[in-house]
Amino acid sequence: MTRLVDTHCHLNFPDLFPEPDPAIEEAAREGVDRVIVVGCDAETSRRAVALAERHEGVFAVVGWHPNHAATFDAIGLGEIEAMLDHPKVVALGEIGLDDHWDFATKPQQRTALVEQLDLATRLGKPIVFHCREAYPELLDVLEARKDLPLILLHCFSGDADDARRAVALGAWFGVDGPITYKKADELRAVVRTLPSERLVVETDSPYLTPHPHRGKPNRPAMVTLVNAGLAATLSLDVDACARLTTTNAERFFGLGTRAAT
Ligand SMILES: [Zn+2]
Repeated sequence: MTRLVDTHCHLNFPDLFPEPDPAIEEAAREGVDRVIVVGCDAETSRRAVALAERHEGVFAVVGWHPNHAATFDAIGLGEIEAMLDHPKVVALGEIGLDDHWDFATKPQQRTALVEQLDLATRLGKPIVFHCREAYPELLDVLEARKDLPLILLHCFSGDADDARRAVALGAWFGVDGPITYKKADELRAVVRTLPSERLVVETDSPYLTPHPHRGKPNRPAMVTLVNAGLAATLSLDVDACARLTTTNAERFFGLGTRAAT
């Protein structure tokens, strides 16, 4: 069976996934035997770690999302730092900038971004970024820094110029459900310009449900559809694309290689 990693999902959101275990079991049956659960603040990060402790195939990313930056403070930063020590916490995230929503002011977003960037840089931890309608500003911040650890732009939605700058920085890129949408020709054209050895697939469950299930909540098992959409975009066969994206996920997040069965 083709194995895949869902490198970004939110099984830790209690309102949206009151019972995450069936979604994890369903994903494993579909060959998605590793799932990375991403936090947005201390509480959801703790839940991500708890899920990772309960399930062998679940890993956690912990950090403070820009839309939650209004509640970010030194205590929160300390909690994130403590969680980063956990053996199943594979990166810091999701951090970044979001100009689409105004749940937090720009100064609040930038403080949370910079303090967590400093932390990940000091610890050498990979970083998962959330960026919405703010790529030029985020890239300005990243280009001004030295010694960046591995960085991944989750659900990359930048334009050709953003892509060029991010590639030059050595960034990795997350591909999601929109790659399967009929009208996403522009996104597919940008994805074709990215280095294939730095692409991973993700669902962002419960959001960004791939075609033909749009309108329903997304689940990690549906990363198979994202992989198929990426395969079509890159003119690869589905299995070759799965091997590529799985190996990439193992490299970025430092996951052990799984023996094929
Ligand atoms: Zn997310």
